[in-house]
Amino acid sequence: MNIENLIRPSLLTMNPYVSARHEIKGDEHTYLDANEFPDGDWNRYPDPYQAELREKIAREKGVNTENVFLGNGSDEVLDLLFRVFCTPGKDRALQFTPTYGMYRVLAQLNDVELSSIPLTTSGDLPLDPSLENYLNNSQFKLIFVCSPNNPLGTLVKRNELIRLLECSPGLVVVDEAYIDFASAESVINLLEEFPNLVVVQTMSKAWASAGLRIGMAYAQSEVIEWLNKVKPPYNISGPNAQLAIQKLSENRHQSAIKEVVQRRRLLRSALAKLACIKFIYPSETNFLLIKSAKATEIKIFLGERKIIIRDRSSDVKNTLRISVGTEEECNRLVKLIQQFENEESTVYRS
Ligand SMILES: *Cc1c(COP(=O)(O)O)cnc(C)c1O
Repeated sequence: MNIENLIRPSLLTMNPYVSARHEIKGDEHTYLDANEFPDGDWNRYPDPYQAELREKIAREKGVNTENVFLGNGSDEVLDLLFRVFCTPGKDRALQFTPTYGMYRVLAQLNDVELSSIPLTTSGDLPLDPSLENYLNNSQFKLIFVCSPNNPLGTLVKRNELIRLLECSPGLVVVDEAYIDFASAESVINLLEEFPNLVVVQTMSKAWASAGLRIGMAYAQSEVIEWLNKVKPPYNISGPNAQLAIQKLSENRHQSAIKEVVQRRRLLRSALAKLACIKFIYPSETNFLLIKSAKATEIKIFLGERKIIIRDRSSDVKNTLRISVGTEEECNRLVKLIQQFENEESTVYRS
């Protein structure tokens, strides 16, 4: 695969912004190059390529630093993928639905036509020889697969992703925002075998750091270099990078994730006992997608009692998406839906 054939042609002649300082190492210099204020806690511009944080993340994930890109949340990573690889008004991208809403928003922002192919009812890729043949001959620059899927919660099987990678001439972007809650391993270890793979992750979910706005892309180094050329020079703030480094060194982390997964199981079995909930999707994430003929009513009932959940009915009929909260929050949620059910049946009888 030749990356230059996929890049938006206008970028090939672009001169990226060069920070005055990015080749200087160490703190012992006198910096009079960037019009910063001479003193203060955060008076200096941060490292444009986030060397320290990228190294830490690379080590954590078992890849080289040159295979890691950091964005201001994975939303920035996804936007940059459109900007680097798609010519507005010309190139096309593909998603498998239902899926994360930002692919559509970013495609529209970048004037890129986005096609949708539905996942199977069990959340698998609908791969068959005719689709594989279609993909092989199509001009999709980017193909988005959200696995584990938001909003379904289901995981796309590794062998299906491999088949997709094999038949896609463009880049396959696997959004693994929830992978640390899943029973399966990340596809990061397929990067060497498939140069068209981009894995996107985030510190916003399992890393308990949505406020820090740190998203990651893992890909072959050429892809990472292009993302770095196109991104805003100082896209990760200094304090955020430092807090992220601190977060990555906490050992408590793995057990905290296990607790959330355990609580998801408990929440699932408690919700499954309620008659107004018809189906709960299998979840490999920190949320549950539930199906109920009373979805809208449940959401309103909970909202009136200051519990906010997400109505996903526009994507999957009669569904609500519920994040796994603290034990107390989960208990309160179950109790209130139980109360909703009791009140409904009273109304029904009278
Ligand atoms: C939450 C989520 C993200 C995270 O976005 P950030 O910008 O990193 O906070 C990305 N992809 C999916 C599918 C998500 O659900």
